[in-house]
Amino acid sequence: MNDWTPTSWQARPAAQQATYPSEEALNRMVAQLSNLPPLVTSWEVEALKSQLAEAAEGRRFVLQGGDCAENFDDCSSPIITNKLKILLQMSLLLVHGLRKPVTRVGRIAGQFAKPRSADLETRDGVTLPSYRGDLVNGPDFTEADRTPDPVRLMRGYGRAAMTLNFIRALVDCGFADLHHPENWNLEFVKHSPLADDYQRVVDSLGGSLRFMETLAGSRVDALGRVQFFTSHEGLHLHYEQAQTRQVPHRTGWYNLSTHLPWIGLRTADVDGAHVEYFRGISNPIGVKVGSGMSTEWVQALVEILNPDDEPGRLILIHRYGAGKIADGLPGLIEAVRATGKRVLWMCDPMHGNTETTSNGYKTRRFENILSELEQSFDIHAELGSHLGGVHFELTGDDVTECVGGARGLGEADLVRAYRTQVDPRLNYEQALEMAMRIVRKMGP
Ligand code: PEP
Ligand code: MN
Repeated sequence: MNDWTPTSWQARPAAQQATYPSEEALNRMVAQLSNLPPLVTSWEVEALKSQLAEAAEGRRFVLQGGDCAENFDDCSSPIITNKLKILLQMSLLLVHGLRKPVTRVGRIAGQFAKPRSADLETRDGVTLPSYRGDLVNGPDFTEADRTPDPVRLMRGYGRAAMTLNFIRALVDCGFADLHHPENWNLEFVKHSPLADDYQRVVDSLGGSLRFMETLAGSRVDALGRVQFFTSHEGLHLHYEQAQTRQVPHRTGWYNLSTHLPWIGLRTADVDGAHVEYFRGISNPIGVKVGSGMSTEWVQALVEILNPDDEPGRLILIHRYGAGKIADGLPGLIEAVRATGKRVLWMCDPMHGNTETTSNGYKTRRFENILSELEQSFDIHAELGSHLGGVHFELTGDDVTECVGGARGLGEADLVRAYRTQVDPRLNYEQALEMAMRIVRKMGP
């Protein structure tokens, strides 16, 4: 890898970085973090890469989802468990309906840093730095909270480690066993208009599993165990650099803070620090692409980030918005095809569909999210390409942030449980319904 090191990004312009009061304190913290153990292993990272290669060929489907931004206070048992539950439930619907294995990837255990449209925020004549996620500063509009503090990097690493430790324990102890999907039931699903449809799928899968085991003559543990991977936007390059390691018996460098880091739309500059950092790590990586990016730009990203055409290496996550995808996506698919390089296509139907209601809430409409998804499936199919996965902002909790869906949430309902500090998420019921609608669209 010519001239690349874990710090070579520092010579490039880095968008969306915080300005710390003391560079020295920041560097001391990065040095400390560099000595702590990694959060994931290169084996897991390579296993995910092979699964993504299968998804690119249409033999598997990827479900990626979680909060827009995790916050430190939400590192608690019920919130983590509910997120795991909704992703497991959605994946069960997808496995059953698409007749394909599903790879589950959380936006979790490190999704703590956010890009912002402005560096500063002014309220009543007072100007302070914008909130950039708990990894950088706090959300309260006070000088103390908004001043970037490097100690937060250590807290973020700690929260990520605790989250991942809990997820690993749950998955290993049988919580994620397909033989016991009743463990994943969310209390509120019982009262949902979707409860019966979901239960029918659970019963049918349970029946198939018993049938297979009867044929095999014993319990098939391999069928029961699910894997779970983590991802976050690799935005805070000092944090990512500190977890970038060489691994015995392997060549190259891995970012071991997460299995799947991605580059956000606002930091995908070809000559910028983020692309420089990402080109040198061996993880599978994502890049968000959408309106405002030329086809030449995306072609250059493909060449820089996957020069050897490695299967499973590069995911292009498109996010245009329901009204723009029909114009933007076909040309992009053709342009990427012209590079001759393989990519996995995924659709993020959330970030192009954000709007503000008359009562001041940032929201997204269920019908627009679904429309972008359905158009994506169709456009890929028409062009002989393949949409191999979806990327959602969602939560396992009963929030009211997006409007629409089976329960018909309206704008006036948003006030009841609007909890996100950044972007609006699908609630458990809207997320479950989205999985059902994907199956209705794409199932055999
Ligand atoms: C996000 O995924 O939260 C995000 C900021 O997305 P994008 O980079 O696509 O705007
Ligand atoms: Mn977001």
